[in-house]
Amino acid sequence: MLPTKAYAAQTAGAPLGPWQIERRDPKPNDVLVDILYCGICHSDIHFAHGQFPGAQFPAVPGHEIVGKVVQSGSAVTRHKVGDIVGIGCMVDACRHCVECDDGEEQFCAGMVGTYAGVEDGKPTYGGYSSRITVAEDFALKISPKLPPAAAAPLLCAGITLYSPLRHWKVGKGSKVAVIGLGGLGHMGVKLAVAMGADVTVFSTSEKKRADAQRLGAHDFAVSTNPETFTRLAGKFDVILNTVSAKVDYNAYISTLKRDGTLVLLGIPDGPVELDAFGLLFRRKNLGASIIGGIKETQEMLDFCAEHNIVSDIEMIRMDQVNEAYERILKSDVRYRFVIDMATLG
Ligand code: NAP
Ligand code: ZN
Ligand code: ZN
Repeated sequence: MLPTKAYAAQTAGAPLGPWQIERRDPKPNDVLVDILYCGICHSDIHFAHGQFPGAQFPAVPGHEIVGKVVQSGSAVTRHKVGDIVGIGCMVDACRHCVECDDGEEQFCAGMVGTYAGVEDGKPTYGGYSSRITVAEDFALKISPKLPPAAAAPLLCAGITLYSPLRHWKVGKGSKVAVIGLGGLGHMGVKLAVAMGADVTVFSTSEKKRADAQRLGAHDFAVSTNPETFTRLAGKFDVILNTVSAKVDYNAYISTLKRDGTLVLLGIPDGPVELDAFGLLFRRKNLGASIIGGIKETQEMLDFCAEHNIVSDIEMIRMDQVNEAYERILKSDVRYRFVIDMATLG
């Protein structure tokens, strides 16, 4: 076993602090990766607060990992020592069910989460750590065109927006809205713009208007202003809801076109009321999506390399993580915190 430095919440809601975990010695199909950077996803906060399915404590969050391969098992063919690789929300899956066969490992009943999962009978630990051992098929190739720190958030925020944009066939001229300009939302704007869509941002923060424009959005609407919903009534083909709290789904559904779809990505802390009439009358749809499969994650990384897309990041030291969580909870992040893992010591 490989003793490994990490940061953990010892109990639900406790501040994170130094802890030691063990990583497995690489098996023939594993690579050992020295973690360089790890993004902070809002799901990490849900997890550290015990509000995530499968949460066990001590909890080591982090599923936006970029690192360098330092050892590869005897049967590894995809990566070699020195390669820069990414690891997202999954570290394994059953590999023989219909979901795995279709490249949708995120829906496999045997999918193993990078955290909140169980592997070889032990809890998995995330990327707030100095290294990780992972099956080579679950390590993604990061193009040398992508700066490693700013590429880290692509591993969750990037694929979480890319997958529904592809699934709901967003392309040139599609009218797309993104609700919430945070880590997920700002990636949604960049990706939808690169796919040729006409993009509107719904935000609670008027202060983010200039940023939305800089990111490429064509329109910006303050969601707390009731006039917003009359002005934009019946406009959108697809709306991507990235908000980490309850929002009024019915108000957003009123801004969909006939056959348009509201896609749920953000995780509210409880059920939200839905008025069936809002959907019935123009045959509108409610959809949802969670990350994306391994093949599609590689496709997204390659798309980002081709279109020069990375996350807007604020780099922090490991010991600033609790402060970063506080700021994320106040929607005060422009637009993803990334931990420089060299500061783990
Ligand atoms: P984030 O960076 O905190 O962004 C969330 C944004 O939502 C905020 O910046 C804010 O944008 C808006 N918001 C926050 N609280 C709000 C409230 N009470 N009312 C209205 N708007 C509010 O979080 P994130 O990392 O992007 O994650 C967003 C959510 O997606 C989390 O729940 C996370 O767990 C979930 N998630 C889901 C998946 C998936 O696969 N489906 C993957 C990753 C994360 P404005 O300031 O612009 O209003
Ligand atoms: Zn995430
Ligand atoms: Zn499977």
